[in-house]
Amino acid sequence: MQPTLTIDLDAIRGNWRNLARQNGGETAAVVKANAYGLGADRVAPALAEEGARHFFVAIAEEGAALRRILGPGPTISVFSGHMPGDAELIASADLVPMINSIDQMLRHVEALPGHPFGVQLDSGMNRLGMEPAEWGALRDIALAQNPVLVMSHLACSDEPQHGMNDFQLRTFAELTHGLDVPLSLSATGGILMGPDYHFDLSRPGIGLYGGLPFIDAQPVAYLDIPVIQVREVAPGESVGYGNTWIARRPTRVATIAAGYADGVLRGMGPKAYVYAGETRCKVLGRISMDLIGVDVTGIEPVPDHVELLGRHQSIDTLADAAGTIGYEILTALGARYARRYTGG
Ligand SMILES: *Cc1c(COP(=O)(O)O)cnc(C)c1O
Repeated sequence: MQPTLTIDLDAIRGNWRNLARQNGGETAAVVKANAYGLGADRVAPALAEEGARHFFVAIAEEGAALRRILGPGPTISVFSGHMPGDAELIASADLVPMINSIDQMLRHVEALPGHPFGVQLDSGMNRLGMEPAEWGALRDIALAQNPVLVMSHLACSDEPQHGMNDFQLRTFAELTHGLDVPLSLSATGGILMGPDYHFDLSRPGIGLYGGLPFIDAQPVAYLDIPVIQVREVAPGESVGYGNTWIARRPTRVATIAAGYADGVLRGMGPKAYVYAGETRCKVLGRISMDLIGVDVTGIEPVPDHVELLGRHQSIDTLADAAGTIGYEILTALGARYARRYTGG
């Protein structure tokens, strides 16, 4: 029996609506990495129905798959821009590459003259986009080709007080001063920082999927894991690989049917909990590839399944246990779950 991953499409729609209400400009939706692991084939159409007209993906192949899902109409933009070999996909799937360098600009106008494109500027993160000097050299040439969007990305928008936010805002404003082109700076965190950061278009991802920094997000992912077997363990006995956990008192141990191959990150073992109904149950010993031991001492009746994600535990709580972020918890969710969608 498989664990069940339930994805609440109504919650995703509600989160998009809620962010769109706070956002001054148009609100797009970022659905890269298969909608953060939740299934772009279900998530993107639900968001399109809710009113999203602009979608972002990481690479052209994702964009082509998304076009098959959404059909003609919505704008699909690609953060990695126009990479070697992308021209055919960009043309046939009607994608808008966010051009990141002079090389990409030349490649694009040579392979697909007149095909829409945007420009991504680096305002300080040093990840993707043209450096200010590069943009200075290319600006007039690029503008003559009519970019449909000029964007940049914030490095620290999950920390509103961080000085980097204001620095990047000022840098972006300087780099785009006087342009008559739609502008975009913010993802989820930037929307929450207020109107100065909104410009013409915002690009939320994690907030749609129920993660921080969108503190008011509705939970989206519910993960229930069946109990395979229950045993009584005596003081002095151990549980799991490496004997890292040893019982100090009589303990009832449930072995549940998920492990690190399902994205339950092994490193979270010592700090992780699951829930049996309302009761918090500690993970005992190391997380195996397909199995986890949990403490169900005193829980009556013995549960037939436990909750890893849901009402009692958010992706961010679980991320804390693993020393990571909700984004990684979602994108790590494995292929072995029975996926159920509700709402939509
Ligand atoms: C992933 C990404 C987003 C979405 O960010 P969230 O923090 O998930 O809202 C927006 N813009 C760019 C460039 C991205 O890479």
